Amino acid sequence: MGRALSLLALTAALAAAGWLATRPGTASAPAPTRPRAAARRHAGPQPVPPARRTHHAGRLGLRRRPEAGIVWHHSHALGLPYAGSLVGGVRLPREGVHFFTWDPVLHRSPNRPWRRYGTARLVRTLLAVIDAFAAAHPHAARVGIGDLSRPHGGDFGPRFGGIGHASHQNGLDADVYYPLRDRRERAPTSVGQIDHRLAQDLVDRFVRAGAQFVFVGPDTHLRGPAGIVEVLVHHDDHLHVRLPPDSG
Ligand SMILES: [Zn+2]
Repeated sequence: MGRALSLLALTAALAAAGWLATRPGTASAPAPTRPRAAARRHAGPQPVPPARRTHHAGRLGLRRRPEAGIVWHHSHALGLPYAGSLVGGVRLPREGVHFFTWDPVLHRSPNRPWRRYGTARLVRTLLAVIDAFAAAHPHAARVGIGDLSRPHGGDFGPRFGGIGHASHQNGLDADVYYPLRDRRERAPTSVGQIDHRLAQDLVDRFVRAGAQFVFVGPDTHLRGPAGIVEVLVHHDDHLHVRLPPDSG
């Protein structure tokens, strides 16, 4: 099975690189007379060596994991989530193997880059929780991540679109959209669209990952430990995870 799959993948890679394509003259023409170097130049790109491909590459083709391109910094959450700033923020990629990003103002994916900055620990926690969620639910759609903080944190209120955020100021907050029953990659527009079982599992995983708070909407009927999972208005389409203040 594994061998058959890797043969299939190699065939796909060769086809993508043009190696299996029938080029004019290749079938019946006599041996090329041009010099070897020139022939090599015309051979097109080399196929990606199997060792450099990721086993998660199915959805994103043969590209490497976007997560591999993250520029990590030592980062610091200064002040408070609702009155603070972010130093050395790490930008979450526009998408990953197991997540997409969603712009809550423009209602489209991906989210704009300047809305995707957090502390290194917040970004690591999001990726770890979502990777584990995907492993536990191999048939689930990718998870939607919304706003984190701005590149240097600070005010993320209504002047940045929509109703804005009271918090999301120091890289410790992230919005995560509840999975949809129809597996579409977008924000839910009503609680009836939410896959409750998967949404509860996401809440539980963020609690286990050390969230200080997970805010959920009043109509979602999601629950968790008192003092951590709290009901808050405007959270019927997404949960809001906040890490504790020592998250560098
Ligand atoms: Zn939020």
